[in-house]
Amino acid sequence: MENTNYSGGRQMFHGDWVCSECGAKITELPFKPNGKGPLYCKDCHAKRRNNYSGNRNNRSDRQMFHGDWVCSECGAKITELPFEPNGDKPLFCRDCHRKRMQNRPRRF
Ligand SMILES: [Zn+2]
Ligand SMILES: [Zn+2]
Repeated sequence: MENTNYSGGRQMFHGDWVCSECGAKITELPFKPNGKGPLYCKDCHAKRRNNYSGNRNNRSDRQMFHGDWVCSECGAKITELPFEPNGDKPLFCRDCHRKRMQNRPRRF
């Protein structure tokens, strides 16, 4: 029987890993890595958690895709979209999109 050190009731695995994000050395992890997924040091892990919950809590701060597109309606430049266009559908600038939403005929 090994003397398992329970720090706060959580078993830590010790080893020699590298953070997938910043390349920092990782000497202990709260889980046993299987070598498949990326590993993060304490700092990066905390950062990722913060970013994640931040995005979830703040809906106005949702992810935007940046690129160089042209509005199908008025030809205006579009530099960011709330979704990634797949090239199938026409793209509309903010103004045209709003206009279309307002002019949209009722379904019933
Ligand atoms: Zn890191
Ligand atoms: Zn437009």
